[in-house]
Amino acid sequence: MRRVVVTIDGPAGAGKSTVAKMVAAQLSYRLLDTGAIYRTVAFVAVNREVGFDAGQALADIATSLDIRFEIDGDRNRVFLGDREVSTEIRTPEISKAASHVSAHPEVRAALLDLQRRLAVGGGVVVEGRDTGTVVFPNAEAKFFLTASDEVRARRRVSELHAIGQPADLQTTLTEIRERDNRDATRAVAPMVQAVDAERIDTSGRSLDEVVADLVARVHRKIAKVNASVVA
Ligand code: C5P
Repeated sequence: MRRVVVTIDGPAGAGKSTVAKMVAAQLSYRLLDTGAIYRTVAFVAVNREVGFDAGQALADIATSLDIRFEIDGDRNRVFLGDREVSTEIRTPEISKAASHVSAHPEVRAALLDLQRRLAVGGGVVVEGRDTGTVVFPNAEAKFFLTASDEVRARRRVSELHAIGQPADLQTTLTEIRERDNRDATRAVAPMVQAVDAERIDTSGRSLDEVVADLVARVHRKIAKVNASVVA
């Protein structure tokens, strides 16, 4: 069986991270959270007090980023060198910073190679904003996950509460809308659905239902790919 590349793109709070993690586990595939990479670049920039308009300095951080992922049960732990940054990169401040940092073409170019290297050999579920359009345009299975703004904001509040961070619905909704707008309107690699991606609206659907749906769709894609290899 050929091991394919599965991309899951979409706006903040659509459920990408949780769905991607579960789909990867069910397929016995690796997981690549590209948002965590942008977040980690933003985290370093904030700590070094590099301005969000300093494209080249931000790209330098991206180029030398010493990031590593470690799957631990159902957690995808993120390390910067020896330091675990899994929780620190999930604050609203870093969410916002990541969307500023990621708008720089130099930063995106610097991270392209890293993302492709981390996914080499296939058998990987990649989640982000441009993974089906720019990073892996030839991925065999592409999805665009979405949900209504309110549903996404409520999920984000729950996620933040779960990691012990304060969050209120109205502020989160405003932040999510601003971030989506920035991600969707940037000049380079904006968040758009790839023409060959399947759009999945997760509003009002349970996590298990969405995961089962995606896994079934990926299996159909894999069968098709294998059939065309044999033919
Ligand atoms: O998915 P997550 O919320 O962790 O992503 C954080 C930010 O990183 C996004 O709002 C977006 O600006 C940026 N990002 C991106 N391209 C990706 C993944 C994330 O621009 N492939």
